[in-house]
Amino acid sequence: MNQELWSKVKNADLLKQISEGKEVVWINENLEKTADALAKIDITMADIDDAEARLARFAPFIKKVFPETEPTNGLIESPLTEIPKMQKQLEQEYHTTIPGRLFLKQDSHLAISGSVKARGGIYEVLKHAEDLALEHGMVKLTDDYSIFASPAFKEFFGKFKIQVGSTGNLGMSIGIMSAALGFHVIVHMSADAKQWKKDLLRQRGAEVIEYDDDYSKAVEVGRKNSDADPSSYFVDDENSVNLFLGYAVAAKRIVKQFAEKGITVDADHPLFVYIPCGVGGAPGGVAFGFKQLFGDNVHIFFIEPTQAPCMLVGMASGLQNEVSVQDFGLTGQTHADGLAVGRASGFVGGVMMNLLAGELSLEDFRIYDFMRDIVNSEDIFLEPSACASFWGPVQLMKSEEMKQYIKKMGLDEKMAQSVHIPWATGGSLVPQAIREEYMNTHLK
Ligand SMILES: *Cc1c(COP(=O)(O)O)cnc(C)c1O
Repeated sequence: MNQELWSKVKNADLLKQISEGKEVVWINENLEKTADALAKIDITMADIDDAEARLARFAPFIKKVFPETEPTNGLIESPLTEIPKMQKQLEQEYHTTIPGRLFLKQDSHLAISGSVKARGGIYEVLKHAEDLALEHGMVKLTDDYSIFASPAFKEFFGKFKIQVGSTGNLGMSIGIMSAALGFHVIVHMSADAKQWKKDLLRQRGAEVIEYDDDYSKAVEVGRKNSDADPSSYFVDDENSVNLFLGYAVAAKRIVKQFAEKGITVDADHPLFVYIPCGVGGAPGGVAFGFKQLFGDNVHIFFIEPTQAPCMLVGMASGLQNEVSVQDFGLTGQTHADGLAVGRASGFVGGVMMNLLAGELSLEDFRIYDFMRDIVNSEDIFLEPSACASFWGPVQLMKSEEMKQYIKKMGLDEKMAQSVHIPWATGGSLVPQAIREEYMNTHLK
């Protein structure tokens, strides 16, 4: 990076380590009391409520078209599973302790597209479909939305296009739901997107355009093509408030799961959530929802690969999306394909500025080790990107930075009553042959 940029960055020593590809822990020096931080943000709880109500309106349609959602009555929601064997396994393997209870949020097993993108991506498509149908007088808010599955609606949506740039999972969520509604959907996929994801999308009726370049390029071309076509809507992963709200609904829905599992979150029972971060929309939206609901009692950490820590370099430097990982001499390439993003969302960086507890980065070899651990201990398969989340609980009582954070927050005496949630962001759709390939991947 040029000298001028280095002279503008905050946390220069830390960024130097990041630029050398080292694993780091960054505690956010801009963290504020939740109420103060939220007061500066335009998005509110009422917006999350609105998104939740919209998903409820569409539930009869989803239930009809995706029978796998019958058990949840057309809601796309994932299990929260206690994983005590994994907790022991991590403690032994990494010579640490993980106090309190460890739960896995299995967005890996969300219906329809098998990743966290089934929240934001599908929500955004439904929002757009509803907007069009309302605008053209085809539906009222009080109607039974199973009519969206009728031939008349399919024919109507066939006149419109939806386009998106994706490393894979976002494309799957947008592609599958758009095609189910009848839209002409075009997914612009970066070089790191996996072949099986492209194949599956084409099978479901989406058009897939492949690039030899990274995610930013796929987004740039996709946006340009879409903007030039008045019938086309572009799903903007970097700036979309709708995507963000779809993710945020996760927090409202988890309240019931907490009650079922006997989980209390209050000043004496801190909650820690660890979420893998790509461009930032999914972890940012989930985090925002949690801060709205649980305030100062929830502590959110994002996890990124050492070669693609885009949110970390943006937040720690204070320069947000003005800087990319390439500016710091990193490749942006990682085995964690869902996290292979070089420049973070400026919108999400702004929202998280005073809400995020901190960030951790990890080397790629660890995600395969964690993947084997969770398969062997709990018999749950997750894709490699999702496994980055386990680095949070492992580092909690090990890293000096996190220990200091606990102390500073006055949590030392409360850790025995704490709850930890690594957010498993994807995996259930990974084909068997690819799973075996992953299980046999040893980078170190
Ligand atoms: C997309 C994705 C993420 C991160 O979400 P962003 O919105 O890109 O930050 C994490 N894990 C998996 C498996 C993903 O597909």
